[in-house]
Parts: sequence; structure tokens; C-alpha cells
Amino acid sequence: MIPLDEAQAHVRGRCPAPVATTVALDGALGLVLAEAVVAPEAVPPFANSAMDGFAVRAADTAGAPVRLAVVGTLAAGAAPGRVVGPGEAIRIMTGAPMPPGADAVVMVERTSVSGSLEGEQVEVEVEVPVDNHVRHAGEDLESGQVVFPAGTALGPGQVGVLASINLGEVPVYRRPRVGVVSTGDELVADGGVLAPGQIRDSNRPGLLALLAESGFDGVDLGLVRDDESAIESALRAGVGTCDALLTTGGVSMGDFDYVKVVLDRIGDMRWMQVAIRPAKPLAFGTVDGVPVFGLPGNPVSSMVSFELFVRPSLRAMAGHATTERPLVRAVVDGGMPRRTDGKVHFARVVVEYRDGAYRVSTSGGQGSHQLTAMADADGLAVLPDGDGVAEGDEVEVLLLR
Ligand code: AMP
Ligand code: MG
Repeated sequence: MIPLDEAQAHVRGRCPAPVATTVALDGALGLVLAEAVVAPEAVPPFANSAMDGFAVRAADTAGAPVRLAVVGTLAAGAAPGRVVGPGEAIRIMTGAPMPPGADAVVMVERTSVSGSLEGEQVEVEVEVPVDNHVRHAGEDLESGQVVFPAGTALGPGQVGVLASINLGEVPVYRRPRVGVVSTGDELVADGGVLAPGQIRDSNRPGLLALLAESGFDGVDLGLVRDDESAIESALRAGVGTCDALLTTGGVSMGDFDYVKVVLDRIGDMRWMQVAIRPAKPLAFGTVDGVPVFGLPGNPVSSMVSFELFVRPSLRAMAGHATTERPLVRAVVDGGMPRRTDGKVHFARVVVEYRDGAYRVSTSGGQGSHQLTAMADADGLAVLPDGDGVAEGDEVEVLLLR
């Protein structure tokens, strides 16, 4: 067996570097900037009102209450229009451009309007300073300013900012396209009644869901029999169209573990027995330069392998500086016994934040076939080799959400 960090370093060291490309802004969420973005225009582009109210000359409000002549109306989207002269006001809506001459806005709540023979008048109840409720051009971004440096991960806020500067095409690292193949003669995915010995294929949907949740482009490459030539054609087709491949099953010590046989023949593979539980067996290598992760078949193992090996590698391939899930310390509720076996155990746990500390308790049956406890897990508690942890002990926990 090899230690986890050695296996992780081996895998990471052989994954290809991120590939720069451009994508339309509406496809950029979750991707990483390959270049710094510079603002081609200022945001806001012009001085405008932060309130519905009246654009005035601040000096005219001295000694308020004062009466000013209302000489026009400016809606958002209108051109600035007429100058505001001394003793005048223009009714202005939020987002409308400041008219020339005006240097402040009085919010509508601090005014009252009355009509007279000379026209409409507004009584301003308060004295306001210059710039009152005025949003200046460039207050969010100046033209020419670096908006985001290369390496920025694009979340919803970044997408909005990029739209505000008219960046329709975004320089990013490519979103890895990742094929998923399930293998096993016992597996069915046709929705029919199970024949004796059959089980449903849960790994492929689960892994495709993990890929989607992590921001990668999962490609369903189907369910393949335990048959050398079927496995070989699925893998060859996959490496032709994907940036990485995930297989599940067929990498253990069984008689029909043909994934191992095929990958040995067509790829440059390393077979690892990693000193962890679950997810001890792992095959990793490249086929035609494309990284292939041979994940174990047990459903929990395939998901834990994804978390420990696949997700960090794919994040690196996508250009993310942060590749790992957060690791926090937590207090154990209820105890988690285990046996000494030379492995680090990753226990599926529910995580709560209570009284100023993270607390963890088991999320259910810890067998590698018991997927419901994985589904209910918020984290993987790291149990070092030994006889486990007791109530009140501290453990490290990899937060899955
Ligand atoms: P293997 O690694 O092929 O020896 O499979 C280990 C265990 O995982 C066996 O009990 C398989 O039936 C089960 N298994 C393999 N692939 C899947 C799958 N796609 N979905 C659910 N269980 C699976
Ligand atoms: Mg199998």
C-alpha cells in the first residue's frame, strides 16, 4: 500500500495543464480566467441619481425649507437634457443621468410638490450637501482598470461585473469534458425487473452528478460488459472526445476485472493500493495522453475516490488555484470506533456547527456498498490508523458541502 499523499501527488503530476480558450459570458460560470480582464469602459458610465427625487444645486437648499421651480423630468435611460439653473430643480428617477448644473439630489420623501400659476414648484425640506445621492462615473470601475486578475474563478458576481463592462467573450481555461463508463456484467440500467444476481448501475449517474456539481462537463459513455473488446472500444472512443475518463469497476483482484487488463494493454497505467478505506484500489494513467481514472466499483468507494483524486485533478486542469475541499477540525459526537489496518479511514459524517465548533457524527452504515450514508454525509472525517475516536475527541473533516 502507498500513502494517500503519494497517490495524490502521482495523479496530479500527470494531469495536463489547463488549456486557454474563450467562451461566451453565459457559459462562463465556474470557469477560471486565463487572462486578466481590463475594463474597456467605466461603471457607472455617467453620473446618475441614486434616488427618486429632485436634481438641484446644493447651494440652493441652504436655509431649507426652500421652494424651487420644477423645470423637467428625467427618467432612467433619458439623455441628461436641460441645465438646472439657480432656483430650479428637475424631477429625477434612480439611474437617470445628472443634468448639467445640478450637483445634488434630494430624495422625494424630503420634498412636497405644489402647482401655481407660474408652474410646478417643489418645496425642499432639507439642506443637502454637494454630491448628495449622486453616483459618479467610474465609482465601481474606472476605464482601463484591471477588473479581475488571471486565475479568478468566475462566480455569479463576476459574471455580472463582466456583463457591466460588455465582455461578451471571456478568456478562460477550458471546462474539462469528462467521460464516465460503468463496467460490470451484474449491472443494469434499463429500468427493468432485476434478474437474479443483477444490481442497478448507480455509479455512472452518481459520478456524472458529482462532475456536474463540481462544474465539469460530464459525458455519459454508457454501461459496458466485463468484456475486453467492449471495454477497449468504450475507452478508445472516450479518449478521442474527452479531456479525462472515469471508469468504475473492474480494477480489483477479481477474475473478471478486465478494465485493468485493457488499460494495461492500451495505456500507460499505474495500479495503486492506497492506504485508505474506502477506495483502496485506484488505477491511474493516460491513454493517448488523456488521463484515465480507474475507480473502484463499490459505490461509496467510487465517490470517495472522486473526492480524493478526481475532483482536485480536474480542478487543477480547469485552472483553479484552490483544488481541495476545505479541511476543518471538528469535535466527535458519539464516537467512531475502527480497527488498526494500516489505513486512514474516511468516515461519512453529518457536520453541524454548534456552540462555536464543528461537530461530526456518523451519517449511517459505513460499508463501501452503503451509499445512503454517503448521500447523507456533509463531510469525510479523517480517522488515522488506530482504534478510532471517542466522544469529544477532535478529528479533521473534509467538508463536502
Ligand atoms: P468491482 O470493482 O467491479 O469488483 O465491483 C465492486 C463492487 O461494486 C461489486 O459489488 C459491484 O457489483 C459493485 N459495482 C460495480 N460497479 C457498480 C456500479 N456501476 N453501480 C453499482 N455498483 C457497482
Ligand atoms: Mg466488476
